[in-house]
Amino acid sequence: MSFSTLGLSAPILTAISELGYQTPTPIQAEAIPLALKGKNLIAAAQTGSGKTATFVLPILELLAKGETQRKKRARALILTPTRELAVQVTRSIEQYGKHLELKAMAIYGGVDMAPQKQMLIQGVDIVVATPGRLRDLYTQRAIHFDEIEMLVLDEADRMLDMGFIEDITKIIDTLPEQRQSLLFSATLSRQVRELAKETADKAIQLSVTKKSEGKPNIEQWLVTVDKDKKSALLSHLIQENSWPQALIFIETKHGAAKLVTQLEKRGIEAEAIHSGRTQAIREQILADFKAGKVKYLISTGISARGIDIDELPLVINYDLPFPADEYVHRIGRTGRAGAAGEAISLVSKDDFKNLCMIESRLDHLIERREVEGFEPRKAVPVSILNYVPKSKRDAKGEGSNERVKAGNKPSTKNNKRKVTKPKDAKYGSESGDAKLPLNPWKR
Ligand code: AMP
Repeated sequence: MSFSTLGLSAPILTAISELGYQTPTPIQAEAIPLALKGKNLIAAAQTGSGKTATFVLPILELLAKGETQRKKRARALILTPTRELAVQVTRSIEQYGKHLELKAMAIYGGVDMAPQKQMLIQGVDIVVATPGRLRDLYTQRAIHFDEIEMLVLDEADRMLDMGFIEDITKIIDTLPEQRQSLLFSATLSRQVRELAKETADKAIQLSVTKKSEGKPNIEQWLVTVDKDKKSALLSHLIQENSWPQALIFIETKHGAAKLVTQLEKRGIEAEAIHSGRTQAIREQILADFKAGKVKYLISTGISARGIDIDELPLVINYDLPFPADEYVHRIGRTGRAGAAGEAISLVSKDDFKNLCMIESRLDHLIERREVEGFEPRKAVPVSILNYVPKSKRDAKGEGSNERVKAGNKPSTKNNKRKVTKPKDAKYGSESGDAKLPLNPWKR
C-alpha cells in the first residue's frame, strides 16, 4: 500500500515523500481514510506506531481548504500530556504541512503566557496544547473555541495518569458539539474508554496496536542487581558495550542529577533532563541528544515524553516505572517504525512489585541476566506473571493465595539470547506462591 491510496492531496503527499516515508504504518493505513471521511475514532496506538501523522495528515487535509478567519480562534485542537510532546507534534505539523499555508502553534505551561496570547490574537489554524495552560488561556478569554472543527486527544492515558481529567473535561464542555474527535492512547483502560465516550460520539475503535503490540522489534532483558550497585553496573555496561546512544530513565530528579555525577566520576559524560531544569536548558539538551552530541541522556519519565529520535537503539530503565503502561511507553522510544531496538532494565529487590506488574501487562516474563561481579546479595524473587495489585484484590474480594493461578505460560522470547547466567525466573504457580517469603507486600 502507498500513501497515494489514502485520499491525501498532492501537497501532503509531496511532504511525506520528501520525508522519505514510503508506506503507511498499519494505524495510518486504517485510520487516515476513516478520519478523512469525518469519522470519530478511538485508536490504541503507541508512540512509534506513526500515530502523529495519523491524526496530523487528516487535519491538514481537512483544514487546507480554508483558514481561520477570526482572532483568538483555531479550527483544530490537539491536546497532549506534556510540553515536549506539544512541541514535537507542532514540528510534525510544520513538516507534513510544509506545502500548505496553515499556521500551527504549541501552547504549554512553565513559560510566559504573553507570547502565546500575542500569537493567538492573530488566530491560528491548529493549536497543540497541554490541558492546564490551555484552560488558563481560555479562562482569560485569550482563546475561544467556537470555530473548532477537529479535536485530538493524544496519549489520552498519559493525560489521565497526569491528573488532567478535570481540565480536559472542562475544555471539551466548551467545544462545539459539531466537530470531529480522534482519541489516541497506548492503552484503552476503563477510564480512557469513559473519556472516549464523552469526547467522541459513535467513535470507531481501532486496535491496530493490539495486534502488533508484541511485534515491535525490541529486545527486552533485565539485570538483577542490588540497588546500591546500580550506578556501578550502568557504568560497567556502558563501558563494556560502547553503546552509541542511550536514553536512561530514572524515577526522581535528584536521582537523575546524582547519576550524572556518578557516571562522570567513572569517565562517562551524561546529561540529565528533569522538571528542575529550565525549559530552555531542557530543550537545548534534547536538541544535543537528537544531534548525537549527548550520548547518554538521563531523564525522569515525564521529561522524556515527546522525545522522538529515529533509530534510538537503546532504552535503559535504571528504575522500573509504575504504572506498568509507563514501561510500554518507555520502551516504545526504541524500535520505532520497524527499526531494531533494545530495552534493558536494572532490577533490584525493591523493583520486584513493579516488575510483576510490568510482566503481567506484557503477558510474558522478561529475560533475566546477571552480570559477573554484580550478582545481587538481595535476590529478586521469582516473578508472578498474573500479579493483581492489592487494591484490586480487595475490590474483588480475592485472597492473596488466589492471586497466583496455574496456567501461566513462559514467553517463547525468553530464551532467545544466551544469558550470561540465567536466573530461575519462575512462573506464577501454587508452588511459586508458597515460595514467596521474600514477597514484601504479601498479606
Ligand atoms: P510517532 O508514533 O508518531 O511518534 O512516529 C514515530 C516515528 O516514525 C517518527 O519519527 C515519524 O517520523 C516516523 N514515521 C511515521 N510514519 C512513518 C511512515 N509511514 N514511514 C516511516 N516513518 C514514519
